[in-house]
Amino acid sequence: MKDLLRRLTSIPAPSGREEQIRAFIQAEIKDYCDDLTVDTMGNLIAFKRGGKTKLQFAAHMDEIGVIVTAIDEQGFLRFGNVGGIRPHQLYAQRVRFPNGTAGVIGAEKVDDLKQLTLEKLYIDIGAASAAEAKTKVNVGEIAAFDYPFVDLGQRVVAKALDDRVGCAVLIEALKRVTKPQNDLYCTFTVQEEVGLRGAKTAAFGIEPDLGIALDVTGTGDTPEAPKLAMKLGQGAAIKVKDVSLITHPQVKELLTMLAEKNGIPYQFEVLPFGGTDAGAIQLTKAGIPAGVISIPCRYLHSPSEMIDLNDLEAAVRLVVATMEHPITL
Ligand SMILES: [Zn+2]
Repeated sequence: MKDLLRRLTSIPAPSGREEQIRAFIQAEIKDYCDDLTVDTMGNLIAFKRGGKTKLQFAAHMDEIGVIVTAIDEQGFLRFGNVGGIRPHQLYAQRVRFPNGTAGVIGAEKVDDLKQLTLEKLYIDIGAASAAEAKTKVNVGEIAAFDYPFVDLGQRVVAKALDDRVGCAVLIEALKRVTKPQNDLYCTFTVQEEVGLRGAKTAAFGIEPDLGIALDVTGTGDTPEAPKLAMKLGQGAAIKVKDVSLITHPQVKELLTMLAEKNGIPYQFEVLPFGGTDAGAIQLTKAGIPAGVISIPCRYLHSPSEMIDLNDLEAAVRLVVATMEHPITL
């Protein structure tokens, strides 16, 4: 699992540029499903036959990034955000474009950190002029953070664990499931970070009876952290509410029952910010019962997100248990 996470997080795939990560996941799961398709938006949908109920899982492939808005005469790239990015976390960070071009983020002089808006920042790709910069990168190209995976033993640090850890959970569950009792639609979605867009069209096409997203959640277990109940290493988090979703009571009950029955460590999650693909799935057609299995993650949306492998394992087991439980609604 560690090695899978290392490979998944090393691939740059900012929202809208998911080609490389999709190709990687496609190769990884092709022998573990009955059908594998890519829809118009670019979602990868792995189907595995199992029963009457249509169960959709969703893990998003994209990660937050920056998009080039202009190139100035000295060859510095001005940029906007793709997804939720905090300007004060960007200074001196490294980014890489899908074509391999690397850069470091610099800042204009500011007297107060509060003045550090995106407009004050630029990407330096080592070009001495606009002409030289344009041989490497053009306006409209999107870059992602560029940092290596760090193995801390039980815990690991990487960029894009949001949501490659969800992708890892779904890949591993597909490999482990032996007797699926529902028709499984394992969707690896695009453009979650810019508004849950891929999940919306994927769910419309699938028309699932039930939808479950796999994503990261924040924690309250670091010094002077916001008062959140979720902790690293305490198990898979069963979401109760975030900004995009109030988990359908039947889904919450189902996941809790399956965790209890199988001795899977779990915790309940209430998140006062953010949303996931489940928020889009639940609003499909006349409504779909939806929920989320979350993996607690520290330093969300930074280049150094941290998760605990115990939580990853618990999430895989809970997904497999759900796949192998005949669901009636
Ligand atoms: Zn996410």
